[in-house]
Amino acid sequence: MLRRAETIRKRYGLTPKLMERTLSHFVSLLDEFDCGATFPITTTTLARSRGVVEKYQAQKIEFAAHGYYHTDQTELSFNQQLEQYVAARRLFEERGVRCDGFRSPYLRSNPETLAAIKQAGFSYDSSQALAWDIPEDMETHEYRRALDFYGAVSAQVYPSLPRWDNDLVRIPYCLPDDEAFVDRFQTSASRMTELWMRILGSTFARGEVFTVALHPERILPCQQALVHVLREARNLQPKVWMTQLYQIAAWWKKRAQAEVHFHQESPGEMCVSTNGTEGVTLLARHVQATSAARMWDGSYLQPEGPALKFRATRRPFIGVSPGSPAYLTSFLRQQGYIVEEAQDATNHTFYLDRARFAYEDELPLLDEIEQGDFPLVRLGRWPNGARSALCVTGDIDALTIWDYALRVF
Ligand SMILES: [Zn+2]
Repeated sequence: MLRRAETIRKRYGLTPKLMERTLSHFVSLLDEFDCGATFPITTTTLARSRGVVEKYQAQKIEFAAHGYYHTDQTELSFNQQLEQYVAARRLFEERGVRCDGFRSPYLRSNPETLAAIKQAGFSYDSSQALAWDIPEDMETHEYRRALDFYGAVSAQVYPSLPRWDNDLVRIPYCLPDDEAFVDRFQTSASRMTELWMRILGSTFARGEVFTVALHPERILPCQQALVHVLREARNLQPKVWMTQLYQIAAWWKKRAQAEVHFHQESPGEMCVSTNGTEGVTLLARHVQATSAARMWDGSYLQPEGPALKFRATRRPFIGVSPGSPAYLTSFLRQQGYIVEEAQDATNHTFYLDRARFAYEDELPLLDEIEQGDFPLVRLGRWPNGARSALCVTGDIDALTIWDYALRVF
């Protein structure tokens, strides 16, 4: 506890000056990579400060609510949670701070939390912890316990993707975060860099989102890892969409609702087009394109214009049997696949007839589709032909040592 108190004293000052300097350093670093960030901030911390965070909104920094008080939300009733979230939204609004999303303190939430967030008018939640594998020698009992406390799920089992469910978009929070590296593993900067680079590589390969979780007060020990990740993300092709959480949530809904039209151009030749939703792109593999298209990632082609003409003997979309669960179709559409209800497998290049489809089935199904070699035309998962997404995000629990002390009480 003494060591912890000493660390806290070094990170926060009696006035917000120290944290102001830290934030300004963090933001100028991000700016070098033309990268924004999302900082969820505890409402009482926002209430007790004035002018510290507001100014960053003009610099691609998004703020989200991080609870009203920094407490375990699962200990509150639905009504208490709703009351606090409504009050949080009101305070953000009074202060002129845009606030679309929510992250639970300690990443702990329950079904009541999600219902209250939605009812209070937030469009997304980013509290689901998703743990990427770490080398065995770094594993500690304490880290395992923290993962349990956070209710973390494994990235070996679940995709790191948004999920639009019940009109709330849920965006995972990738672990290990800065807190794990600095306070729990007490590992070297190069080890941290190596592990974050590996997560970037995996999310890029799987076309997923990497939420680079870094609380602003730990920017200095984590700076090397962050800079390496951002530099690599900028260089990757097809590109990585570096953005904020509210943009991810808005995009996920917008793309899932984009309309796709197709008609027979001539015998054996089809034309597919989208309704022109900004950022929506078509991708096609193993079809004979008859309109201009360029290579996207080695297996998919991306048309030069908003439409693609091609020759195919069967419909290069995903056929789903009428008896399959509605969630299967919803999940596939959220990934950008073009899904059609079909009685049998004869007309489509890929056909699914499943009695059940659970969250655990998502990753194996995505692998089956993406590693398959059947003809497929789909929408790009991310805007403007990006292959994966990245968002730097970290909570601001406190701006002064007083905020921190009040948090404990
Ligand atoms: Zn927090």
